[in-house]
Amino acid sequence: MDEIRIPNDATYAPVSLTDVIAAAPLASRLLLGATLPGRVLSAAALGMYAGSAVKDWISRQDVLWIDFEVEFGADVTFMDPMPDDERSAEVGRVADRLGSAWTDERRPRRQLARDVNDALTGFIASVTGQRVVTSSEVRDFGLAQLVFPFALGVCDIISGDVALFKETGVFEAHVIGHEFVHRKGYWKELHAQVLAYLALINSGDPVLAQSALAERLHRQLKVLAKENAEDYHQRVEGLSLPEALARDLHALRPDPSVYESTVSSVMRTLYDQRLKITGQNGISDYDVGFTNFLWTFANSPSARQDVSLAAV
Ligand SMILES: [Zn+2]
Repeated sequence: MDEIRIPNDATYAPVSLTDVIAAAPLASRLLLGATLPGRVLSAAALGMYAGSAVKDWISRQDVLWIDFEVEFGADVTFMDPMPDDERSAEVGRVADRLGSAWTDERRPRRQLARDVNDALTGFIASVTGQRVVTSSEVRDFGLAQLVFPFALGVCDIISGDVALFKETGVFEAHVIGHEFVHRKGYWKELHAQVLAYLALINSGDPVLAQSALAERLHRQLKVLAKENAEDYHQRVEGLSLPEALARDLHALRPDPSVYESTVSSVMRTLYDQRLKITGQNGISDYDVGFTNFLWTFANSPSARQDVSLAAV
């Protein structure tokens, strides 16, 4: 099978190069009272970062990209709205399926990242006929965490660097999958959500499939609760879910600290705008868009891919 290797050199650096570029001048001023060592370090990191990005860009020139509307009968501006009664019915089915096939198995983050990446590479290849091989490295910290306290993780779309910000339990495989779709070169949030979901749910690996279903449930509950945290928590309680799943679902809607809620309310609006000016629907693509996409694909008369991939 056709195979493309993206080097992702920046992801193998011992620390995030973007963090060095941003923080080294400030750190050296604080520690040494001098800016020069920081500037030198910063410039070196910038050179490595740019070199890595250029190599990745060159190797991506021959990638066969998925045409979402052709393959799945749905895309960012081509989705049918899922009715609320259908959402409620789906919540019941997904909760039942999660309960009946529940596994408590947990894998170390690095192994999980490799398994997720393999599933993703295989799924994309099943659509395009081409394996796009990328790094499975993940970081546990990134400065972006301070700017986007509401995010679970981040992928630097230029360097492919991925950092996870929180322990999300059963959701971890999906969070990694989402960021790894970006690393493979798909930068839209809707595409990251659906490719991660479809790859994990159809992977044949119970831990990965469970994570995908949990994300589908989480997003449906969030849409039904319409930004009302209290309503969301009540819906989780009403579902007699496995204890670990209920705990992880509650943890995704924590009461924010003062810092988080102040920064979040500003950054969320900016982030929503950023998505809109880059041809996306906004933050809603994470939940409303994601679930509408699966609904549209599952009922599509024209999708080239088997619509049962999105069934539940
Ligand atoms: Zn994303």
